[in-house]
Amino acid sequence: MSQHESSNPYASPGEVKVVTTFGGRKICKVCPGCGGKEYKRKKPKRTVAFRSDRRCRACDTVYSVPTPVWAAIVFLLVGGGLAFVAGTFVLGVLALASRFPDHLGISIFISLAIAGVLGLAGLFAFFHGLRALFRPGSV
Ligand SMILES: [Zn+2]
Repeated sequence: MSQHESSNPYASPGEVKVVTTFGGRKICKVCPGCGGKEYKRKKPKRTVAFRSDRRCRACDTVYSVPTPVWAAIVFLLVGGGLAFVAGTFVLGVLALASRFPDHLGISIFISLAIAGVLGLAGLFAFFHGLRALFRPGSV
């Protein structure tokens, strides 16, 4: 009987591995409530998400699927690159500002703020990728 998994809409209990995140989100490959594999797509609320969340057709449980390895690597590369570029930009602007203190304008602070936000977003994505890579199924 266990050879017919593709025709069975429900996963076996051993197949259902649920991880609950710090924010209370459930991560699982199938429905953590009933093991159902039928779902509707649901727009994720979080900022970093590679796939849409799922809502179980059988019991309405909302859950996320684990971040795949390729996505984790993309997070690492893009996030790390963004953080590096933003960090270099901030250091460069600060170096210029220290050499020409008379020319400090509001535009410098605005560009620093934008670079800071981008850099933080990059770091966030970078660490998200790290977690997804080294703790598979937890994000
Ligand atoms: Zn369900």
